[in-house]
Order: sequence, then structure tokens, then C-alpha cells
Amino acid sequence: MTKVVKFGGSSLASAEQFKKVKEIITAESSRRFVVPSAPGKRFSNDTKVTDMLYGCYDLAAKGKDFSSEFDAIKERYYGIINDLGLDLSLDKEFETIKACFIGKAGRDYAASRGEYLNGIVLANYLGYNFVDAADVIYFNDQGQFDSARTNEVLPQRLATLDNAVIPGFYGSMPNDTIKTFSRGGSDVTGSIVAAAVNADLYENWTDVSGFLVCDPRIIDNPQPITTITYKELRELSYMGAGVLHEDAIFPVRKAGIPINIKNTNKPEDMGTMIVESTSQKPAFTITGIAGKKGFTVVNIEKDMMNAELGFGRRVLEVFEKNGICFEHMPSGIDTMSVVVHQAEFAPKEQEIMSGLHRNCHPDTIDIETDLALIAVVGRAMKSNRGTAGRIFSALAHAHVNVKMIDQGSSELNIIIGVNEADFESAMKAIYTIFVDTQL
Ligand code: ASP
Repeated sequence: MTKVVKFGGSSLASAEQFKKVKEIITAESSRRFVVPSAPGKRFSNDTKVTDMLYGCYDLAAKGKDFSSEFDAIKERYYGIINDLGLDLSLDKEFETIKACFIGKAGRDYAASRGEYLNGIVLANYLGYNFVDAADVIYFNDQGQFDSARTNEVLPQRLATLDNAVIPGFYGSMPNDTIKTFSRGGSDVTGSIVAAAVNADLYENWTDVSGFLVCDPRIIDNPQPITTITYKELRELSYMGAGVLHEDAIFPVRKAGIPINIKNTNKPEDMGTMIVESTSQKPAFTITGIAGKKGFTVVNIEKDMMNAELGFGRRVLEVFEKNGICFEHMPSGIDTMSVVVHQAEFAPKEQEIMSGLHRNCHPDTIDIETDLALIAVVGRAMKSNRGTAGRIFSALAHAHVNVKMIDQGSSELNIIIGVNEADFESAMKAIYTIFVDTQL
């Protein structure tokens, strides 16, 4: 049995957290490959080392003095090293990094040093091998992850080792410069490593016990989700349920490896298992509810629209030409609504309006702003009658006016549009009807 374990920044923010991590790793001999993030926040208004590195490098790039910012980063690492009683000096590493900052080695290089140094410290503390991600994780000339080249090198390299710490978040480009994934990208490295060693499980250790049925900022103490499928997760992540980087799913999913989200501070909690498919019934008809504010709907009306060949294409062409992605597109007989992100749409609004008039000759177009979308997601909806009915009666009782409904043919989710002002009460009403009444 082989597990790849990834630890997030809060799990490695201090010596105290490092001790918990070591206990978790040594509790099971299968935890052979470890992917760390950079030290994160120790308390709520602390600064992540990654952000300290970006800030410090920005000063260096402008030719300004960055020594005190640099010393603060050194202090974070030496605080951990000394509190753990390690016999380890990073002085040489810091000298090199300083020289590279002065030589303007780039923001990605700067940010990656957070994981690089933390990997050295963790490998030393665990007595594990250290494998620099720059030597095994590759990006192409366009800055995209190069899976072909990585798959040639990484599995072979790790096959020679009993254990290893591979820093998360970065790899190297064909010209040997350092490139990072987007923020939170150590999750992606963990997934790539799990696929490379054919792991039985990818454990992703963080500071929450997995996914919750609803956002805890809206519902007090929401129920945990014990098992979720990749498809359900995609729907919930789209609506902002963010525990895992979206790109972390693909490598393990392709290799059929499940992910277990676990809590470093409560290792006894089961966390959430993310799987391809499961016979496990969700605890409630729905698996989760998530939502986002900040949408605009463009309602286009034209008599006999249904009989006009190519109408939909011409509408979407206007959005495409203006670089705007559409999120949803509910339609009626003579109406079509295009739901877009308000922040992206607003600056292009008039171009799009005139484009629609020119391209589609509609009878009317109106724009509604400040819409919130709520996704009610669950694999069990397919086999349960009355789910939609329960949602809408709960919303009616909560005096929430439903402005849009969109149910995909997969019957995996129902998306509802409400006024932003009704967002919280709508989420609460849906949670109550499916969860509280079933407890
Ligand atoms: N340290 C990086 C960040 O803060 C990557 C990660 O933690 O996954 O985004």
C-alpha cells in the first residue's frame, strides 16, 4: 500500500504543526511520499511565507532594499528549525536565493522557494529523501504542465526511493527557469505524484475535516460530506466550495486514485473521500449546496425565435467575440437568457448590446444584475422523486423569489438564480429542508 500525503500551509506553519505532521506520517508506513506547501498562517492575521516571498521579490525587482523582508522570511524557517531542534543550516540556500532576487530570477522562482525550503526542512525532520520538484515536474514553453515529459522522469525517479519529500507548487520550464502552478498549486503536485507512483490513495491534509454540505459562514456547523464523486465535486467547486485546487483532480482521476481530504488538527476525523463512483448513499438526498454572487442575466426575446435557424449561435457569437464566457443559458420558446459574470460583462456591456442588435435583431433585450446562483448537487437526486418540488416549496416559504431554474440532464444538480439579497436565506431554506428535517 502506498499513500501520497500532501500537507497544506497551515499544517506546516510552525514547529508545533510539523510535529503533528510527523506523527501522522509515521503512524502508517504506507505514507511514503510527502508533498509540502510553504509555511502558511499561524494565526488569522499572520502572513503566508508565499506572500512574504512575493512582497520581498517585488521590492528586489524594483531595485529597492529588501533586507528586512528577507530576514523576516529567514526567521520563519529558523523559528521552525530551532523549535524542532534540528541540526540544519539553510544559510547557503538563503545566500543563493538573495543573489537570485538581485539577479531578478522572476516571481515564480521567488514564490517557489517557500515550498523548496520547507521541503528541505521536512525531509530533514522526517529522515526522508529530498527530491527537488524542478528536476521531476515540467512545464512546456507556453507555461503549461508538461505531463508527457513529467511522466517520463518522475515515476522512474520515485521508483528508486523508499520515501521522498517533493516540494509542491512548482517545476521547471525547458529553459530551466522555475514555473509555479496557480495559487494553491501544491494540491496539483500531490496529485501528479500520486499518479506517478500509482498510489492507492492521495491524502490531502488541511485545516478542515473535508467538505461540508454548506458553507459554514452561512450555516452554523453544517454536516460533513463523507463521500463525494468527482462530478459532484466539480459542480460544487464551480460554485466556490474551495478546499482543493481544481486542477488537482485530473491526474488522480485519470489514474483511478481516490482523494481523501483530512484535517491535520483532527486526524481522527474521517474527512471527505473523493471517488469516481460509489455505492455509498449520501446521508441526505443532496450531497451539497454551494452558491456564488455576482452574476448578470441578459434576457433576449424574439417572436418565433424557435423557428429561426442559427439564432442561438449568433447570440453566443457576440459574447465570444467580446471575450465573455457564458455560464448558463436557460431558454424559453421565444426567450433566451445568457448568464454571465457581472465583473467580466460590465465593461463590455454596450458592445455586447449593440452586437446582439446587429447580429440577432431581437424584439427586446433586458439586463438584470446582482443575481446569485445556487447549485443544489447530489447523485441521489436522480433516484429520488420530488427534489425540485421540495427546493421550490422551501424557497416559497422563505419568501424567496426564484428568478431562474436550470436542471442539467445529468440530474446531478439543480441551479437556481435568486436576487443577491435573498442569497443567504435561500441557502438556509434549502439546507433546512434537506438536512435538518432528516437528522
Ligand atoms: N504556497 C502556495 C500558495 O500559497 C501553494 C500552496 O500552498 O499550495 O498558493
